[in-house]
Amino acid sequence: MDLPNAAIADALEELGDLYELDGAIVHRVLAYRNAAKAVREAPVSVAALARAGRAIELPGIGKTLEQKILTLLNTGTTPSTERLRAQYPPGLIAITRLPALGPKRARLLYAELGIDSPEKLREAALAQQLRAVRGLGPKLETSVLAALQRMPARSLEQGGGRLLLPRALELGETLAAGLMARGAPGTHVQLAGSARRMADSVKDIDLIATTTRPTTLAKSLAGLPEIERVASAGKAGARGRTHSGTAVDLRIAKPSQLGNLLQHFTGSGPHNAALREAAVRRGLHVSEYGIFDDATGTTHTCASEQEVYERLGLTYIEPELREHRGELEAARNGELPRLIELDDIRGDLHSHTVASDGHNTIEEMALAARERGYEYLAITDHSASHGFGDDVSPEQLRRQIELVREANARVQGIELLTGSEVNILPDGSLDYEDDLLRELDWVIASVHTSFGISEQAMTERMIAAIEHPLVNAIAHPTGRLISRREPYAIDLDAVFAAAAAAQTMLEINANPDRRDLSDIHARGAARAGVPIVIDSDAHRTDTLANMRWGIATARRAWLTAADVANTQPWPELAKLGKQARQ
Ligand SMILES: [Zn+2]
Ligand SMILES: [Zn+2]
Repeated sequence: MDLPNAAIADALEELGDLYELDGAIVHRVLAYRNAAKAVREAPVSVAALARAGRAIELPGIGKTLEQKILTLLNTGTTPSTERLRAQYPPGLIAITRLPALGPKRARLLYAELGIDSPEKLREAALAQQLRAVRGLGPKLETSVLAALQRMPARSLEQGGGRLLLPRALELGETLAAGLMARGAPGTHVQLAGSARRMADSVKDIDLIATTTRPTTLAKSLAGLPEIERVASAGKAGARGRTHSGTAVDLRIAKPSQLGNLLQHFTGSGPHNAALREAAVRRGLHVSEYGIFDDATGTTHTCASEQEVYERLGLTYIEPELREHRGELEAARNGELPRLIELDDIRGDLHSHTVASDGHNTIEEMALAARERGYEYLAITDHSASHGFGDDVSPEQLRRQIELVREANARVQGIELLTGSEVNILPDGSLDYEDDLLRELDWVIASVHTSFGISEQAMTERMIAAIEHPLVNAIAHPTGRLISRREPYAIDLDAVFAAAAAAQTMLEINANPDRRDLSDIHARGAARAGVPIVIDSDAHRTDTLANMRWGIATARRAWLTAADVANTQPWPELAKLGKQARQ
């Protein structure tokens, strides 16, 4: 059998990593990473496409890469992979992923000290050997140790096989629609599992169905174009795998038991365990089949999840809250929050245009935001030292302010706010003068460089920005990238206390790669009294819609509309702002 997409993607990713270690130009490395992503996300067999000479139809795959894929299929490897593997041991790739290091330093440490694994790196840092290498110092030892400690074991290994939420929902909804199209009339299929709980990333897809012809439906899973193979199929359901390597579990319920099955397979594990434990104290036993009552010796089945929770003496718990973070107690006392919804949002306070690294003009962004029903949009292009070649000099920002005001006069039905996403420099200062910042309606500040400094230095750096009299909000406060980069070292309790005192807002950045603050952090911030803002950080008109993922995080953080600043009209919000208080 041909290689599944996930195996091809892993091979291309490894080659990208090896080229990076080898000091190849960045475009070449990126080409392999983009190709790996395209292969991983391809809905059909890439091996079959390549053999038909059609892999070039995938985004980012040209003739050369198609040839490499064919070589891989025919020989199980490629000559460049073998050559580079002989030069660089596999543990070295894990080391390059540490934010404190990167490929150049990893190569240097390998050449000078023979460090070829995270374990050896830890030992060398503890033994203070890194400072002996020219250009490295004691500071690096501290940040390496901190980074190693924060990095979960699995992210030091190759790949993780998890899908980010948008991709998981898209796949789950496609599979559900495909099954419903093939099932008997009246067949209904819905998504359960961590995708339904709107988690950051999802390992496998859980589907729950009701149908009059269970065996037919289970067998039809194998016929979906996304499915590579099906291991088992019967009247209770089917298990299979997609071409991209994601496990798919289909379970078929009788309508009278749908509530039990849906509740059970939505999880989470800890939520269900706590639920079972609480039920036992009432003489009830909860399972995917129903609720068994010790007193009567009978099993109640529930058609809806509402009924499951009701029978256990609880109000309905939204899927996003089912993480065993106090939701059972709150449901018992009728104290669950009324969670924020997408419709509560009145405006977006973080967006980019062609002035920095965005793809659309001010006016295009304004019209798209108005189309979404927003009352206001802040244009917050990157500041001067952003470092991606799209710097906005102070003169350009002055010009941009004029352009935003002109567009605001031209476009009716939405208020455009002048703003900037200003860099927080390593010493905590900002890279525009106060006089210029004072001219803006809205200032957000964020860290885009020097992630590897110590926890204390990063905390002081962040608090300096929070206490700056002209900063309204801090964007993506921890710098994490889901499944790719851990948060930088920072004392968030100290940050929350400072933000609450200064009433500087902290952002839930809704980019699905970030979702930063995370659910747990956003909840901690709100509890500490920090005003929260949810922003898309859109770099094109389409990604204004990313707001949805920020709302998902806010709901998982137990936030209500009242906790989130941009559920208010701009005049109200402006009154809260620091400019108004000056
Ligand atoms: Zn940013
Ligand atoms: Zn941004």
